[in-house]
Amino acid sequence: MQQNTSETPLKRIAIFGSTGSIGTQALDVIAANPDKFSVEVLTAHQNDELLIEQAMKFNPNIVVIVDEQKYVKVKSALASTDVKVFAGEAALEEVAAMDCYDFMLAAIVGYAGLKPTLKAIENKKAIGLANKETLVVAGDIVMRKAYENRVPIIPVDSEHSAIFQCLVGEGRNRIEKVILTASGGPFIGRKPNYLVNVKREHALQHPNWTMGAKISIDSATLMNKGLEMIEAKWLFNLKPEQVHVVIHPQSIIHSMVQFEDGSIKAQMGLPDMKLPIQYAMTFPQRIKNDFPRFDFKKFNTLTFEEPDYKTFRNLSLSIDALHKGGNLPSIMNAANEIAVYAFLRNKINFLDMTDVIEKTMGAITFIPNPTLQEYFDSDGEARNFAADLIKL
Ligand code: NAD
Ligand code: MG
Repeated sequence: MQQNTSETPLKRIAIFGSTGSIGTQALDVIAANPDKFSVEVLTAHQNDELLIEQAMKFNPNIVVIVDEQKYVKVKSALASTDVKVFAGEAALEEVAAMDCYDFMLAAIVGYAGLKPTLKAIENKKAIGLANKETLVVAGDIVMRKAYENRVPIIPVDSEHSAIFQCLVGEGRNRIEKVILTASGGPFIGRKPNYLVNVKREHALQHPNWTMGAKISIDSATLMNKGLEMIEAKWLFNLKPEQVHVVIHPQSIIHSMVQFEDGSIKAQMGLPDMKLPIQYAMTFPQRIKNDFPRFDFKKFNTLTFEEPDYKTFRNLSLSIDALHKGGNLPSIMNAANEIAVYAFLRNKINFLDMTDVIEKTMGAITFIPNPTLQEYFDSDGEARNFAADLIKL
């Protein structure tokens, strides 16, 4: 709740997942623009210390700490302020249903982001969507609810922000295809005999982006690009065959749209998530900032190549899920979450992740047109099946 000296009212922001990579960068954008935004809601899973620090700095209306064991600590640290403190998973939905904010930045990682985002949509709040898993799990229902409630879903994922920016001003002009760029991750060019031995620390080192642990592993396996293909289908109402991927190791072109006259529009810039975060929060306006600028003289080569679908089989599995649809993407997503966390805890090796996902996708009953409850159930079944495979 900051001072507003200008005429335009402050946009009241709720950051779900404020302690993560996207959440902290969003707070940097807000801190640089106190005349445009106020922070109303901050939520964290377990990082109580950072949540307290953020609350002291931004003085929100409400904070949520999901881990209930940390409630007393957060509550007493904020006792001298008027910040309201909630705890527990259910509080995320409860707060998403409140009226104290205008815009939810959906920056929780994984399936956990789905329910609060659905609540915010039902509550007619604009969404800045970083949490791609929300659309992978239940894209049809999320987009339909957004349409029914007249709620904009503005992408934060850099590729989808790029496509969104390319579409501004295009009205009803038809898209022939979208081309998502992928850096290729830290293991570009590597083969299975190398990948079988890579360790967590190595996989977490992304060449171009610093991100949370889960998306970093997804980038190393190319699952991230697979999830993004499904995300693009729902966001832009595309047929599966209209969604393409090209490897572009420099991450300067963030993605492209090819229209039916053959013209291709691309959005470019240095890899920096602050730009798509800021754009989602200020859309349709662009506002000035001091982020580093791209300089053509320093990048005299931008390269493009086909993905190695045979080595990075998660991408092939995702394309299968994209085409078959139904509950298959949600099954794949759940198995992937289990596999990634098992890899992060050194329980399975890098290539085992794909085996777990493939076996789970083959085992859970396919439902062509699931209800929301069936999506939740498929998620739970797939998690149990994958965890059994790994013997977690
Ligand atoms: P992160 O791991 O850094 O942060 C995740 C946030 O979610 C934290 O605030 C954490 O407290 C919260 N959280 C984690 N588990 C939770 C749970 N079970 N319940 C409630 N809250 C929970 O992740 P991130 O890298 O910031 O990514 C967030 C989302 O944005 C992901 O869906 C990711 O795919 C997407 N995204 C991230 C980037 C990036 O550069 N980091 C880029 C594009 C898209
Ligand atoms: Mg992305």
